[in-house]
Amino acid sequence: MNILRSAPGQKADSWAASKPPLLRFLSACHADFSAETGGAVADYIPELGKADADHFGISLATLDGHVYEVGDSRIPFTIQSMSKPFVFALALDTLGAARVESAIGVEPSGDPFNSIRLNADNRPFNPMVNAGAITCSSLIREAKGDGAFEYIRQAFGRFAARELGVDEAVYVSESATGDRNRAIGYLLRNSTVIKDDVSAVLDVYFRQCSVLVTARDIAVMAATLANRGINPVTGEQVMTSYAISRTLSVMTSSGMYDYAGEWIYRVGIPAKSGVGGGILAALPARLGLGSYSPRLDSHGNSVRGIKVCEALSSHYDLHMLNRSDDARNSIIADYNIGNSASRRSRRPHEQKILAAHHQDVRIIELVGTLTFSNVDYVSRQLAAKPRPQFVIFDLRRVTSMTRAGAGLLAEEFRELALFHVTVILSGIKRSSADWKMIKERTGGISNLRDFYLLDTAIEWAEDQVVYRHGGAIDFHETTDLSEQPLLAGLSAKENRRHCLFGHDEKLPIRREDRRCRRSRNIAVFPRKRRRPRHAARRRTACDTHGRSGVRRNGAVGNPPNCGCACRRIRYRA
Ligand code: GLN
Repeated sequence: MNILRSAPGQKADSWAASKPPLLRFLSACHADFSAETGGAVADYIPELGKADADHFGISLATLDGHVYEVGDSRIPFTIQSMSKPFVFALALDTLGAARVESAIGVEPSGDPFNSIRLNADNRPFNPMVNAGAITCSSLIREAKGDGAFEYIRQAFGRFAARELGVDEAVYVSESATGDRNRAIGYLLRNSTVIKDDVSAVLDVYFRQCSVLVTARDIAVMAATLANRGINPVTGEQVMTSYAISRTLSVMTSSGMYDYAGEWIYRVGIPAKSGVGGGILAALPARLGLGSYSPRLDSHGNSVRGIKVCEALSSHYDLHMLNRSDDARNSIIADYNIGNSASRRSRRPHEQKILAAHHQDVRIIELVGTLTFSNVDYVSRQLAAKPRPQFVIFDLRRVTSMTRAGAGLLAEEFRELALFHVTVILSGIKRSSADWKMIKERTGGISNLRDFYLLDTAIEWAEDQVVYRHGGAIDFHETTDLSEQPLLAGLSAKENRRHCLFGHDEKLPIRREDRRCRRSRNIAVFPRKRRRPRHAARRRTACDTHGRSGVRRNGAVGNPPNCGCACRRIRYRA
């Protein structure tokens, strides 16, 4: 397929006319497959026979919420069987998996969609054939009574990111001619799968099939399935991830009826078709595709729609079972404080302790999505080197965590706790969903700490190492001029020159004093601010012991300590 054909003679300087390659590809598909006139418009529902056979629209929605559209992507048509996955997901979330799974099987039938046949247990084979879908509609009626259809329509709207209407003419037409579905309904009632009034259940089913959508709507609905139930356009979690994953499972095995095996072998993308001419394809974690072209093959699948899916899958090698991921990508830095210490200036005795125990603080900076495999790899990397006292996991570049990743991470924290290793997290906000997932799984672990800034986390761990090895860190301590790294290498005489009034080189200097005290001609050693000057009176807490004290606005140096032996004061966010 020549995807650049849609940009003939484009001048390099007409930048505004540039297109994303994926849009060019969809345009090329549209141009190529428009010539395909095989198949026939469904007319067993008379109103469907009135569709314009030449209409052809393609839309693709990405999981960051961008929607590509080509051709007749805004022409409305009825959703028909593409309603089935959404009503199945809705039934799972509304009635619970146990109720739904006891009523409907999940095995492919190998039969056409409208087969009047149940499995050996007298249940529908799966929710993608009419018998299973009619059962789903009856389950929703069981929960919502006469409000069942409105409940379904509202749910469809949340998947599509807009309110959807009904094609009354198609509904009336199918209602008047749907005897085959009536036969299925009575078979289900005869087997006590449906206990309700059959015509009331079929009314819900016929209406749900007559909901009007466009190729664009279908792409967004598919992208919501591909995105674990979160609509990428609205950000709303429309259904639970359980319902979505089970829905995608039955779409994979039975979405294309008696063409399902061939489909998943060739295309490898969970999909669902409708006799209105739509095809919906949802590639998990990647994209949602919607196409509309009303000419159908003998299985009831859109001829052009199938071609678009096949071309997309083969051109970009998108088969869902043709994947691999390198778990080693998640660690971008792994070091200890010997390679990179905090920015805090340390006195010589502290430096000596930290140099001797640099392996006690290990820092692992992570990136991207933390999955099951990534976290497993991290845990093995950690175990491959000597046991540290503190491990800092810097998560500021972590974009998300899967539930499996968070679960394994929490188990790793427990393992580290067992070996008295303190875990420190940096770069994660306490209000984030990832933090919530970690916290839910690490309740009861005491040696887990967090500091938003990596440098603060490293500094805190360094302090702990210094304390553990007998070094005191004291705000009120005085220090010798020659100890200051800034003046290292200067003679006593040169040092004395820094004290214009001729003080002795043993001049005491407050280590925490950052103000310029030129008037007294005392050497100044710039240090990191510990809190903003403008901060109001605020409760503060010692990070080591959790006791709190109060410090006055703008006070510099000499803060009241918390009464702990450590005499350290930090400020909680
Ligand atoms: N309403 C249609 C029917 O039940 C849906 C079938 C389909 O789209 N495959 O016959």
